[in-house]
Amino acid sequence: GSPVEKYEYQAEVSRLMDLIVNSLYSNQEVFLRELVSNASDALDKLRFLSVTQPELSKDSAELDIRVQADKDNGIITITDTGIGMTREELVDCLGTIAQSGTAKFLKALKDSKEAGDNNLIGQFGVGFYSAFLVSDKVAVATKSPKSDKQYVWEGEANASTYTIREETDPERLLPRGTRITLHLKGDAKQFAHPERVQKLLKNYSQFVSFPIYTWEEKGFTKEVEVEEDPAEAKKDDEEVQTKEKKTKKVIEKYWDWERINETKPLWLRNPKEVATEEYNEFYRNTFNEYLDPLASTHFTTEGEIEFRSVLYVPTMPPNGQDDLMNSKTKNIRLYVKRVFISDDFDGELFPRYMGFIRGVVDSSDLPLNVSREILQESRIVRMMRKRLLKKAFDMIRGISMSENKDDYEKFWETYGKHLKLGCIEDVDNHKHIAPLLRFFSSQSDEEMISLDEYVENMKPDQKDIYFIASDSVTHAKNTPFIEKLLEKDLEVLFLVDPIDEVAIQNLKAYKEKKFVDISKEGLDLGAENENETEVKQEFGKTCDWIKRRLGDKVASVQVSNRLSSSPCVLATGQFGFSANMERLMKARQS
Ligand code: ADP
Ligand code: MG
Repeated sequence: GSPVEKYEYQAEVSRLMDLIVNSLYSNQEVFLRELVSNASDALDKLRFLSVTQPELSKDSAELDIRVQADKDNGIITITDTGIGMTREELVDCLGTIAQSGTAKFLKALKDSKEAGDNNLIGQFGVGFYSAFLVSDKVAVATKSPKSDKQYVWEGEANASTYTIREETDPERLLPRGTRITLHLKGDAKQFAHPERVQKLLKNYSQFVSFPIYTWEEKGFTKEVEVEEDPAEAKKDDEEVQTKEKKTKKVIEKYWDWERINETKPLWLRNPKEVATEEYNEFYRNTFNEYLDPLASTHFTTEGEIEFRSVLYVPTMPPNGQDDLMNSKTKNIRLYVKRVFISDDFDGELFPRYMGFIRGVVDSSDLPLNVSREILQESRIVRMMRKRLLKKAFDMIRGISMSENKDDYEKFWETYGKHLKLGCIEDVDNHKHIAPLLRFFSSQSDEEMISLDEYVENMKPDQKDIYFIASDSVTHAKNTPFIEKLLEKDLEVLFLVDPIDEVAIQNLKAYKEKKFVDISKEGLDLGAENENETEVKQEFGKTCDWIKRRLGDKVASVQVSNRLSSSPCVLATGQFGFSANMERLMKARQS
């Protein structure tokens, strides 16, 4: 054979490998994602370079990735037909940390209090060296189209050196690309099961844009003749000639490559060419759901930032009723160039109150080793967030305009409280949220109305939007506060959900019409009673007398024109809590 040359790792690489092997083992399974994503990158590079240098891909091997698990020997091989590496590139790429993502990872580790923080590997991705999470020994055979020779890089866990030699065995030559052989260690041998590998690939890499094949055992049934038991045959000697041939069904086993990522990622397709049922199926598969979503939206942005996304409104809240409390919802799957990165970043992509939105987001502008820190600081992500939210609102508005009124009723019943929380938490988006709100009213106590409907129904000289907060529609209907407004045919919104009142107070106004609580002091229903002053004079003494009798229990006693048949009403001061709020606060204290 050819000489084997020994090399020292750059000091940082040794340190990184130590960390990986010794402290990041709870994330072992990421090795496959990292190696497949490297394979995919190598194929991307080849495809890109072939545009200008067609001779690079002249060895007509298909662009694909093949993963083979040999459970008897505890070996996994990952083979791609990508760009490969020359001898120099092997030294540069697999012996030093040239790559910025990994360098960042090291820095983060240094800064992190607990070295070897388990989350870090998930956030940064440690690339190629993650192979040592599961392997005692790793061999990288690689053939670059720029070189005539194939080289083999070999490294072992816990070693400070690696070797490179030229491949001389003609049997082992690759047409082009890279084959990584992992000799699994200890309990990591469990990964060398075809089913395990398939499952991991389906989870992490199903949307890689090159075909991924796994080596699988298959079977077909076949009828075979059954030979007569010789003892039996002797016994029934005379019958032998007349007997029919017996057959039985057996399963013939064989091994073959099976493609595991059949479909082109849905989000890469033209929205015009995707049927609703396909979106639904994708949703059910991706999120392990049985129910179809209530709505979906699919869009691409170009220009300043480029990303694609498919978003959904689930029919049921994805995380049960108290999902508002749940910050880790795993509802948004983030891809970078079709490689699955994480479903842990939804908080960075959607505000909490929209945490029920599910979907995939695929960006071409983010680095593959994107972390939460990068997401939080990135200008790109800020723009993505804005567009995602806008699209989510559009999708919800779509439901509200659906011919089928039940759809929005269902939506509102399930997610109304989320949007009301949005009124409180997201002032910037009031203009998107407010039109989606629904309330009962004095003129519509069975079907909820929108604020637009309210505004359309306002009297010509009506300036404000009237509301009363109460614990039920029945109570709201029977409150004395409402008498005068009913008499004047003014519509009053019934805020019967505890959060309604705070939400409305945060909105302050809709289409420049103020929200006015009719249970509060100083309600102005416009020009009224010319004899008001007279009445006030006439009953001034009575008011004083009542105030004296009630003492501190009331702030003041006044003559008012807000009632028509009830003799009196207890109103709240303009800046005090409404009676409803007091009731709620009392309920909370007890
Ligand atoms: P990253 O992929 O972020 O660059 P990795 O540690 O995963 O970092 O890989 C280091 C480098 O090794 C890659 O940038 C690439 O140049 C090279 N490399 C790794 N795997 C392959 C492969 N299958 N084919 C060609 N080059 C590869
Ligand atoms: Mg990589």
